[in-house]
Amino acid sequence: MAVTLPPLPFAYDALAPHMSARTLEFHHDKHHKAYVDKTNKLIAGTDLEQADLATIVRRAKERGDQKLFNQAGQAWNHDFLWQSLRPAGGAGPSGDLAERLERDFDGVDGFADAFKKEAVGHFASGWAWLVLGDDRLEVISTHDADSALVHAGKTPLLVLDLWEHAYYLDYQNERPKFVDAYLADLINWEFAAANLTAAREGKRQAA
Ligand code: MN
Repeated sequence: MAVTLPPLPFAYDALAPHMSARTLEFHHDKHHKAYVDKTNKLIAGTDLEQADLATIVRRAKERGDQKLFNQAGQAWNHDFLWQSLRPAGGAGPSGDLAERLERDFDGVDGFADAFKKEAVGHFASGWAWLVLGDDRLEVISTHDADSALVHAGKTPLLVLDLWEHAYYLDYQNERPKFVDAYLADLINWEFAAANLTAAREGKRQAA
């Protein structure tokens, strides 16, 4: 078993004009693929050769193997990114997630304000996340290849890639416009809701 490059869960042109086919071709077929390929090179012949990607990310972090962590973390984050996006996304969440957004951010608009502030204010490359913290929704950002997956007590629900390769072809240096498009037209709230449900089930089982 090796780490694989999952296909995009939508057509290359499905997110246009908010995210162009050209951006997705480069981002998925070149950038994401390179992280997967380099991860596989680094785990070949090691005790992690048969491990799943999330395990590889966690072990690399525990062992302080920054070289492997950078490649595997980026591979995992990109898997999570594609699922965080959908064509005609951005429509309001429902159910438990909507209630929590109301309680923790005064609603979807309050969440969007907090997320935009975090994503635009994040210096250089990284990732902006909606996570479930200690029974509270939180917006955080991580640097470079760092992942909410390995932040204690945080369960990732949604992510946005803040590396320039994610938006430069479509928005050049205008990260705020890219973040606006994500919030208004691309967020996959069903994915976030499924992650929230899974996290709460997991916590119930652990309790
Ligand atoms: Mn990327």
